[in-house]
Amino acid sequence: MSDPSNLSRRKILLTGAAAAGGALFADDLLAQAPLTPTPACGADHAPTLRQTEGPFFTPNSPERQSLIEAGVTGRTLELTGFVLTRSCKPLPRVLIDFWQADAKGEYDNQGFRLRGHQFTDGEGRYRLRTIVPARYTGRTPHIHVKVQAANRPVLTTQLYFPDEPGNARDQIFRPELVIRIGQAGETRQGRFDFVLDMA
Ligand code: FE
Repeated sequence: MSDPSNLSRRKILLTGAAAAGGALFADDLLAQAPLTPTPACGADHAPTLRQTEGPFFTPNSPERQSLIEAGVTGRTLELTGFVLTRSCKPLPRVLIDFWQADAKGEYDNQGFRLRGHQFTDGEGRYRLRTIVPARYTGRTPHIHVKVQAANRPVLTTQLYFPDEPGNARDQIFRPELVIRIGQAGETRQGRFDFVLDMA
């Protein structure tokens, strides 16, 4: 049975949207509140570049949006964005699996520290809470990711940070894969939209 207070909240929001002349639904308003708006897209986006998986992927990571747990230290990063088709259609229920080094540049190859997967929501959005990884030998800081829509090939790639001096010396680094970074207090706010090779 529905909670009557939720119902009245929906009603209020719907009334508000109608009064403002908008065509938004209550759930849209609620869902959009904390996140960035739909990206302004052109007609045909280039698919996100593929990159090497590297040696430290572990399958079957836990499903979670936050990788911050006991024992994980470092600068907090909130990474958000959409998974889109080339024509800019948001893709719901896309699997996104993240893995990364810790603040000392080390991977957990025994367990699942700083590893986790999630699915994009009904509007094609994801939200990851983690820390900024450190560089390690030969590599500038990066976050590994696999993105897969249902019954489609996996996109494996890596994301980078804009202000790292090591980027220029890293053989794998590509500027197309740099996260857009803002800042809210001590937390870094990142934005990256994945584009899958789908019409
Ligand atoms: Fe790596």
